[in-house]
Amino acid sequence: MKKTITILISMLIAFSFIFSVNAEGTSNIYNINGKTVEFLTDSSFTNEQQLIIANCIANDIDNSSVATYNLLCTMFGHKTTTETITVIEHCVSDTAPRCLRTFQDVTACSRCDYVYVEVIGSSYIFCCD
Ligand SMILES: [Zn+2]
Ligand SMILES: [Zn+2]
Repeated sequence: MKKTITILISMLIAFSFIFSVNAEGTSNIYNINGKTVEFLTDSSFTNEQQLIIANCIANDIDNSSVATYNLLCTMFGHKTTTETITVIEHCVSDTAPRCLRTFQDVTACSRCDYVYVEVIGSSYIFCCD
């Protein structure tokens, strides 16, 4: 009986470990420079692309023209994917609601660093005090 309980407990620990790893793997949220950049949980952007995109947005970098084109992109054009992401700029207003949330259509190339961003809507939200 005691053995069964021990096995059950170790199984529970193993399961909670798997779940916590999963939760981390599906979180596509980047906090950079006082901004939160959130991708869809089933985003088709790779983690590498998400980092490039999040960096561009958080640091106001325009990667639509200065991107390092590789030869394939120069010859055949970019291989792009477009997806809507959520960006929260924290504490931009002095009075509540203080944080600005924008929805942005992001087009990124899977072969190079090309990123094109288009804001499709925004509103102030209650987030930080
Ligand atoms: Zn490209
Ligand atoms: Zn905030």
